[in-house]
Amino acid sequence: MPEQTPLLRVEALELHYGAVQALKGVSLQVHAGEVVTIIGGNGAGKSTLMKAISGLEPTAAGRIEFLGQDITRMPGHLRVPFGIAQSPEGRQVFADQSVHDNLLLGAYHRKDGSAAIAADVEQQFNTFPRLRERRAQMAGTMSGGEQQMLAIARALMSRPKLLLLDEPSLGLAPLIVKEIFAIVRQLKAQGVTILLVEQMANQALAVADRAYVLETGHFTLQGAAADLRRDPKVRAAYLGAQA
Ligand code: ATP
Repeated sequence: MPEQTPLLRVEALELHYGAVQALKGVSLQVHAGEVVTIIGGNGAGKSTLMKAISGLEPTAAGRIEFLGQDITRMPGHLRVPFGIAQSPEGRQVFADQSVHDNLLLGAYHRKDGSAAIAADVEQQFNTFPRLRERRAQMAGTMSGGEQQMLAIARALMSRPKLLLLDEPSLGLAPLIVKEIFAIVRQLKAQGVTILLVEQMANQALAVADRAYVLETGHFTLQGAAADLRRDPKVRAAYLGAQA
């Protein structure tokens, strides 16, 4: 990995929910252009780490740097214009708004004018043709896979420098999961920098450049995704049924 300043640097991060310590000193880096994945089982702290990075949960200790700037205490709503957008676990699209309006809401902070935003909506429709067909449909009436596509497209509408994808495969049928990972691959080819949290470890390791294994609030393994995919410990714990 080149020794340039990472886009995202997380150092010794700790986060508590009351008496529960969900993150116990987590450090990671993401460089521009990389796809990095965090794999781990239920309750390992994956979503918590994503929320800490996007500013949805306050941290107790440690530091988050983005573009070389300390953003540890920056409020979440300011991190979006700063370049961090999240497609949250469970999609959380605006159910009673149309697909088109959901996309516009993803661009709420942009000041580059309606023509640029309309052009980006078109670009999302090119990446996600199913959304074009359903542009006037209420988001809440769409299938889980379509809502997942919308959640990703909405995040991209903010023109992020870093896209956080929290369990995009959650609750989706195998064929749809394949489609979602094909989209992640497509975004990677377009140069989008992605931090991907997944329980579908095999697919996540197949698309990622690097990976971290999170267990009960700390990383137990990290390295090139291809190496972790071959690692016996990873295979035994995370790839058994999927390999
Ligand atoms: P999953 O894949 O099941 O979503 P995860 O790896 O994303 O798991 P987190 O949701 O980050 O795990 O949860 C990490 C730990 O923090 C768990 O022990 C969980 O019970 C706890 N936790 C998460 N959110 C809260 C909350 N709002 N209040 C209290 N405890 C929480």
